[in-house]
Amino acid sequence: MMNSPMVCPRCGAVLDVCHYQAMLVISCDLALFSVECPQCNTISSAIKAIPAQLQEEVHLAAREVGAGMGCE
Ligand SMILES: [Zn+2]
Repeated sequence: MMNSPMVCPRCGAVLDVCHYQAMLVISCDLALFSVECPQCNTISSAIKAIPAQLQEEVHLAAREVGAGMGCE
């Protein structure tokens, strides 16, 4: 479920969480993503696994604010 692709609830397009509007990190590998659909511009939110390509910036951001992410 967490690893399944995010899908637009309105038109069914697969959404790329890497192009998120907002990301609220929940744990070291989970975040609440808000993504705008490129086809119908609906903004939807879902809890998804943080993709590998975003992990690095999440960890960097966590280090910058000195927040322990609990996964090191
Ligand atoms: Zn859509």
